[in-house]
Amino acid sequence: MLIVLLGPPGAGKGTQGERLAERCKIPKIATGDVFRAALKDGTPLGLQAKQYMERGELVPDALILSIMREALTSAEASRGAILDGVVRTVPQAEGFSAMVAELGRKIDAVLLFEASEDELVRRLSARTTCEVCQTPYMGHEPGTPCPKNDNGTLVRRKDDEPEAIRTRLKVYREQTEPVISWYEQHQMPIHRVDAIGPLDEVTQRAVKALDGAC
Ligand code: ADP
Ligand code: AMP
Repeated sequence: MLIVLLGPPGAGKGTQGERLAERCKIPKIATGDVFRAALKDGTPLGLQAKQYMERGELVPDALILSIMREALTSAEASRGAILDGVVRTVPQAEGFSAMVAELGRKIDAVLLFEASEDELVRRLSARTTCEVCQTPYMGHEPGTPCPKNDNGTLVRRKDDEPEAIRTRLKVYREQTEPVISWYEQHQMPIHRVDAIGPLDEVTQRAVKALDGAC
């Protein structure tokens, strides 16, 4: 089962993706997490992505497609995956769909998490993230230990600073929003999920949108 999560930065894709992964018993794969881990380990991939990420810009499509292939063919994703932020441009949507077909798999659902821009800015400005497991938190101070006790410390992401937030929202509107119509034109219905409200309620809406798929 492959479930694609779309939505602007701060909509809750990471938060809800983790919950859906647990429920569906498949891994959550987030390209942002892959890049941050690579950056932390100082790998060539991380170094290539660094400048784009810190400015809030998108990493070039060519880099994404190779990560997608690795993710889709990994043993852990053999039963499926929740794909968080993996598709962010029309060329990526085209490339990903072609790859999925070539591997004899299919996208089961596309969920679009929606929230107002004011709410997105409020959330991103207050977010802390575990540098080890990448879980995003709200209401936890930077420098405190990750509640998951994985020896990680909560940090503020460089791209959660005001200028990078503005860039990411603009990039979303200009480059990622067109992906929504691309999927609709290619007979892949988009399930819109109201992402405002308590976490459990948003999860329930997402599960309902999946219509028993898991
Ligand atoms: P995305 O992965 O879409 O960028 P995140 O899952 O990291 O979004 O969520 C952004 C921030 O908003 C995080 O700090 C998270 O804890 C918080 N958050 C997520 N969902 C909600 C919600 N329904 N209400 C309030 N805060 C939320
Ligand atoms: P995220 O953790 O989803 O907020 O992603 C953090 C950053 O990683 C983004 O702002 C981009 O710089 C980069 N990134 C993650 N996924 C993609 C993607 N599919 N295409 C291009 N850049 C990406």
